[in-house]
Formats: sequence, structure tokens, C-alpha cells
Amino acid sequence: MPTPFRGITRREGMVFEGPAGWAEFSPFLDYDARESAPWLAAAIESAQKQWPAPVRTHVAVNCTVPAVGPDQGAAIVRRSGCGTAKVKVAERGQSLADDLARVEAVRGAIGPRGKIRVDANGGWSVDDAVRAIAALDLAAHGLEYVEQPCASVEDLAAVRRRVGVPIAADESIRRADDPFRVARLEAADIAVLKVAPLGGVHACLRIAEQIGLPVVVSSAVDTSIGLAAGLALAGALPELPYACGLATTSLLDGDVVASPLVPVDGLLPVGRQGLDPAAYGAVAADGETDARWQARLSAVRAVLA
Ligand SMILES: [Mg+2]
Repeated sequence: MPTPFRGITRREGMVFEGPAGWAEFSPFLDYDARESAPWLAAAIESAQKQWPAPVRTHVAVNCTVPAVGPDQGAAIVRRSGCGTAKVKVAERGQSLADDLARVEAVRGAIGPRGKIRVDANGGWSVDDAVRAIAALDLAAHGLEYVEQPCASVEDLAAVRRRVGVPIAADESIRRADDPFRVARLEAADIAVLKVAPLGGVHACLRIAEQIGLPVVVSSAVDTSIGLAAGLALAGALPELPYACGLATTSLLDGDVVASPLVPVDGLLPVGRQGLDPAAYGAVAADGETDARWQARLSAVRAVLA
């Protein structure tokens, strides 16, 4: 990874092929077998089942600006060609001043009609969130929404009652035992859904139907094979009012397909992606990593069985 993300600098995972196509299984390394089980269910679905029929051929996507300096952030936005930017804020070891400078630079780069959302990954207390959101909303000349300002669903609801900027729930849905608690507690205006941690495209479609909130489909920093599953969900949702967080190949230095999913005019195509042996060869794991993942796969399969 060119820039550390979630504290990691190397993204690991497995890819495999079934009768329906290629699949990715790449739960983060700190996830145990139980938390990784839906990731495997999603991968098995991709390999063995047809995805639902799409209602659109392309999906609007946002670029992602990690916790980098303002100049680098502006350059990422310009290079992406996307009309929506998601900016990481509340990074450990940084200050609100760093976030404000990054968001201001992104506004300069994306122009007055571009949309800016921020993602705090649960990094604020309720009071910090209320203060930071007001300042960031000014710096951005209007935020589209704030993703996961605080860690708990109760705190999300408390922030939502005190700010005018819409709140999106991410970790509160994908790492929760009950993804619908967010809606019951009126803790969010938008639901971020990720195919792998929520158990697959069909499972996410069911959540989207039941949760009663507009959905943003996002990736877990997947290869283009994993992103294709996210695009299958985004392509099948009846309503898709926001750009999706699927333009994440820029967070990786390599990929396993011949033509990685890089947005053109802010759009990505819906459709299957297949492994390219040469691309895979350039990022294939060493023997130790391979053995560790085979063991991990066995442990997660035992949980699913
Ligand atoms: Mg997020």
C-alpha cells in the first residue's frame, strides 16, 4: 500500500475460482475466525452463485483521501477525476487543524460543485464530533455527510440529534451483531454496506431492503476481484443516490486483474473480473504467508460449517 491505511502497509488475502467466477477472501489480519466467517460466505457466493441482475451498467464512485497532507490530498482528488471525495479525518496522532487543512485543500481541488464527505472511523467523542463537524462543514463549504463520527450506535444517535450534517453508519453496521439497530435508534441517515463483512451481495440486498435508509456501497480495500462484488451490489440496488466507495484500487500498489478498476469520469463498470496470471504473479505471497492463509481458511471454514 502506498499510504498506510487502518494502520496496515500490506494488504493480504486469497483469491479463488468457482463455477460462477473469481472470488476474494481477505478479512483483515486482526479479525478472528468468527468475524471472518461472513467474508468467506461472501467469497463462496461470488465463486458459486450468479449475482443479481443489474439495473445500471456503471456506478458513480468517490475518490478516497487518506490522512495525508493538504497538497497530497488535493493531488489525489485531481488525479481521480471523481466528483465526490471521501476524506479521512480524526486519524490518531493528528489534530483537527490537520483535518481542516486537508478538507480545505480537497475543496480547492474538487471545485465548488464537487461533493465532500468525511470518515472519522469512530474516532471522536460526542462533544468532539459536534465541534469538529461544525468546523469541517465550514472548511468544506458544506459536507455531504459524516461517516461513523463515534464508535457506538448510542453516540452516533447523540451526534445526529445535535448536528445538521447527515450521518452515515459504517462500522456500526458491518461490525455489529444487529445491523438494524442503527435504524431503530435513529442513529444514521445513510447506511454504508460492504459486501464481504456482511456475508455477500444477496445478504446486503436484503439488508438494504429492510434497513429503510439510502445505501452507499463501499469496499474493504479489496483487489478488483473483490470490488466486482461491491459493484454487483451497487449495480442491483433499486436506488443509488450517493457515489460509492469502490474506487479504492488507488490505495494498493498492485492488483490481480489485467485492467484494475480505475474510475473513468468518476464511474466504474458493473461486471465480473477475472484473475490475470501475470498480474497475480507480481503480487503472489511467499510460502510463509501462503501457509498462514491456508490455516486461516481452514479455521474460518470450521466456523461456517
Ligand atoms: Mg468507513
